[in-house]
Amino acid sequence: MGLADSHCHLDDRQFDTDRPEVIERAREAGVSYLLAIGTGDGPPDLEAAIRIAERHAPIYATVGIHPNDAAKATPDTFRRLASLLRHHEVKAMGEIGLDYHWGVPKETQIPVFREQLAIAADAQLPIVIHTRDAWSDTLEELRTHWTPTGLPCLLHCFTGDAEQARECLDLGFHLAFGGVTTFPKSHGIREAVRVTPIDRLLLETDSPYLAPAPYRGKRNEPAYVAHTAKVVAEIRGISVEELAAKTTGNFERLFRITPAEDSKSNH
Ligand SMILES: [Zn+2]
Repeated sequence: MGLADSHCHLDDRQFDTDRPEVIERAREAGVSYLLAIGTGDGPPDLEAAIRIAERHAPIYATVGIHPNDAAKATPDTFRRLASLLRHHEVKAMGEIGLDYHWGVPKETQIPVFREQLAIAADAQLPIVIHTRDAWSDTLEELRTHWTPTGLPCLLHCFTGDAEQARECLDLGFHLAFGGVTTFPKSHGIREAVRVTPIDRLLLETDSPYLAPAPYRGKRNEPAYVAHTAKVVAEIRGISVEELAAKTTGNFERLFRITPAEDSKSNH
């Protein structure tokens, strides 16, 4: 069985004491691919995920400015992002988007979001979207500035309901479900899992955050994607093996992982 964790923060300080073991446990749990999100502590460091991806075969990277770091972006940041998108380990721009939860003004966030959409479109790469308390603005930006590109978009840590899932699916987007899906009160999210076509569904951990049951409240790690997979398979009424095959196939297609890269040597 090969699972794919489409969203993990492996550079996070919470992994500083045992990062190699965390990656090894993911492998043992049947995780074939990991997408390390490169937003890190924000600019000027844009290479947090690339540094990790370069050392471990099953790990690929993203680069991007998280909306909470929007105020740290400069013209030089955008120039460097454009160049880093050509790095062979980088498979997407992310996580980018809008987050109105922490009080960063929208006037600061929206231009940074739009600039990154333009850079990703130029590079012809997919985007990984973060949205929090900013649903309608995020969808509006994507509808206007991304859908016309025809390029893929993955909504990370999808915690909306079936209706919000349909809004995204109508725009052609993919949805990634994480640990929150396993919580007892997440009825709306489980409805969203039900209405998502299997070829648009991905799994993620968002580790070290949002661990699935039975690890809720603990540090999350990529191996735990197996617990979310089990719950999602149950909701869909299919075997975990079938879910793994489909979601990992989706990961390979979305992020254009080629068999040659898949077998790249571990160094
Ligand atoms: Zn994240």
